[in-house]
Amino acid sequence: MGADSTVSRIAYVNGRYCRHREASVHVEDRGYQFADGVYEVCEVRGGALIDERLHVERLQRSLAELKMRMPMTTAALSVVLHETVRRNRVRNGIVYLQVTRGVARRDHAFPAPETIPSLVVTARSLDVAANERQAADGIAVITVPDNRWGRVDIKSVALLPNVLAKQAAREQGAKEAWFVDAGGVVTEGSSTNAWIVTADGTVVTRPADHAILRGITRTVLLKAIAEQGLRLDERPFSVEEAYGAREAFVTSASQIVMPVVRIDGRPVGNGHPGSVATGLREAFHRYAEIS
Ligand code: PLP
Repeated sequence: MGADSTVSRIAYVNGRYCRHREASVHVEDRGYQFADGVYEVCEVRGGALIDERLHVERLQRSLAELKMRMPMTTAALSVVLHETVRRNRVRNGIVYLQVTRGVARRDHAFPAPETIPSLVVTARSLDVAANERQAADGIAVITVPDNRWGRVDIKSVALLPNVLAKQAAREQGAKEAWFVDAGGVVTEGSSTNAWIVTADGTVVTRPADHAILRGITRTVLLKAIAEQGLRLDERPFSVEEAYGAREAFVTSASQIVMPVVRIDGRPVGNGHPGSVATGLREAFHRYAEIS
């Protein structure tokens, strides 16, 4: 399983690189107490970071929305991200970063302004061959009611509804759960953005408002779709429309473009990954930034 089994993993925790199994934060870290923190997941490919600039920009936005500070400059953060990848010898995988409002006596209101934000960075390898096999087969998704708060555009570590949704999917033999709002409209997956392709070949994904996370993979894929001359309709779509779609897929930094072949047990299209999703998966990295 990649480098994990051969290299002892290293985590970056508040200024130190330490052994992953010993890496820990204080019991009164506000991330632990209140989920008062944000995170990012960036793909690592060939040892390089994919779309780091966009991920760091989204991190800055998430922090600003929650009135939190960057723990260090973007230049210093870039060094820590690359160094964590290097020390863990990750060629293909992900780098994870989490910033919280820091350590303070437990009290709901913000701590003193001089409280130092916490920063944790980890990296791990992913099994590329297994991901490719999964993309060749496609995945099943289930739908669940969207019971999240109103600011899921912030990449907060408060993920309990997402955890429960993913677990429900797993228990039903599916890989992802799509959240559906009270009007029967698909918002997004528990850790992915949701897309369909209509009978006439138009790619559809809902606009990035406060009801979804503006995925970086989504942003880059919109560019790929435009440059490839595919038709795009950025609009909400219902579960019913998804059932009847020609193709469906999900996007995220760790899965890139992953075809969906079943929704709530019903086959999508002919029940196999579609050519649009497969083509976009192949094309994706031509549109991504490497650092
Ligand atoms: N939506 C949610 C709820 C997510 O958690 C994620 C990724 O973790 C995404 C969408 C996809 O975002 P990205 O493409 O930046 O990985």
